[in-house]
Amino acid sequence: MQCAILSLESCGIVMKNFWILLFVGILSVNAVFARDYAKLQEKEMKHAQKYGTTNKYFENENISNKVNKELPVNINFEIKDPKLLKLDSYEKINSLDLKKKITEDEVVYSQIHKSLCKRTIDNYDAQAKGEDYYKIYRIAERIIRSNKLDYLNWRIGIYRDTENFNAYSTGMNYIAIATSAYDTFSNNDDALAMLIGHEMGHALLGHQQRSTTTLNNLEKYRQLALAGNSIASLTYAATKRKYLIDSKNMEYAADIEGAKLAAKAGYDLDKGVEVISFLNTLPQYVERRVDHPNARHRLENFYDNRKYFIEDQWKDIGEFNIYNSAVLPVKLSSDRKSIVINSLGNSPSESYYRPETMEDLYLRFAYKYYINREFRKSDEYFNKYFDLNGSNPFAYLYASYNADAIYVLTKNKSYLQKSKDYINKAYRLDNKNKYIKEQYDNVNL
Ligand SMILES: [Zn+2]
Repeated sequence: MQCAILSLESCGIVMKNFWILLFVGILSVNAVFARDYAKLQEKEMKHAQKYGTTNKYFENENISNKVNKELPVNINFEIKDPKLLKLDSYEKINSLDLKKKITEDEVVYSQIHKSLCKRTIDNYDAQAKGEDYYKIYRIAERIIRSNKLDYLNWRIGIYRDTENFNAYSTGMNYIAIATSAYDTFSNNDDALAMLIGHEMGHALLGHQQRSTTTLNNLEKYRQLALAGNSIASLTYAATKRKYLIDSKNMEYAADIEGAKLAAKAGYDLDKGVEVISFLNTLPQYVERRVDHPNARHRLENFYDNRKYFIEDQWKDIGEFNIYNSAVLPVKLSSDRKSIVINSLGNSPSESYYRPETMEDLYLRFAYKYYINREFRKSDEYFNKYFDLNGSNPFAYLYASYNADAIYVLTKNKSYLQKSKDYINKAYRLDNKNKYIKEQYDNVNL
């Protein structure tokens, strides 16, 4: 120890201080570096509450409960629903007849299975096998037949991407599913049906064309802005914002369209929604900066719209269409990367798939608002419907029931009069139906 410039005595003091400082130093270093691992765990669990994939995966249950709790179910009014409102022209197929038809179809399917599963048709590019294609074929074919989408050849490919969970559609009739998505739901046909339905939805609703139109405009404004046009650069920014908003809205719409297509094909949406719950576990960017909505919002959109779904009727329509159609043949595409589900060459007719008309949508909303006891909303939508179609006696019957409910709730006499007006119109259109007669007599007492 050297203390050359200090006396020995002071050196002793310095040394004493040195040991004290060292001791204090070790204590404080300890205070910084000795971790309280329990506390760390507490903090980490707080993050996990926010980011944990399991919580996000099960978020749909919370959202579904929340949406269902919003419905005012305790209103003291008996809902009359004689099941007279049909949203499409179909008959309910007798279950025995349907079973017989399905058994006949299965014979054809087993031949298709044999031919698709020959080793020669393996798609090495995607590592997909005949079995995988057969699975995709069965789901897509059921959606196509039950929704009358067989006026053209649908093409569905499986491509290799283990990491990025994705599927996409291009143009009118091509759908590509990444192995990541296919494998994730390989034991959940309902989810695969919602996934395929979503991509078909994009195609059927013309989303590719809609995006391309906006992208073309964007490019035009970009060029003008580069050439020094200052108004064009403002327009460019506005168009870009619109593009992002439109893109998100199209995702919401494709989710609903896909769910409708899957419901008509008889798939279980409770199980199918797993496809959105799973998306909810994936990392997501700030919503306003990207062209897809956060999956949480997609879940909310699904449950919110599902309140107004008529799944029983859609299933009946799907069964009617399956009963009245033949098994669609399938073959491997020329590049062996996809399957082609052949149409039977029937020329498209009026009864083929169309997006829901405004008339259908208004009537469905009016009916479901009534069933869900949101009576004022129901009245609003019945009126929107009557503006487009004044010749449906059953719609007037239900509008009359609904006006009765508003009267019971509010004691507002104008709704008694409304109920009378509605049922009088129904009676003028159909005076034979017993439900219309009954309501007519009740109201005109
Ligand atoms: Zn999409």
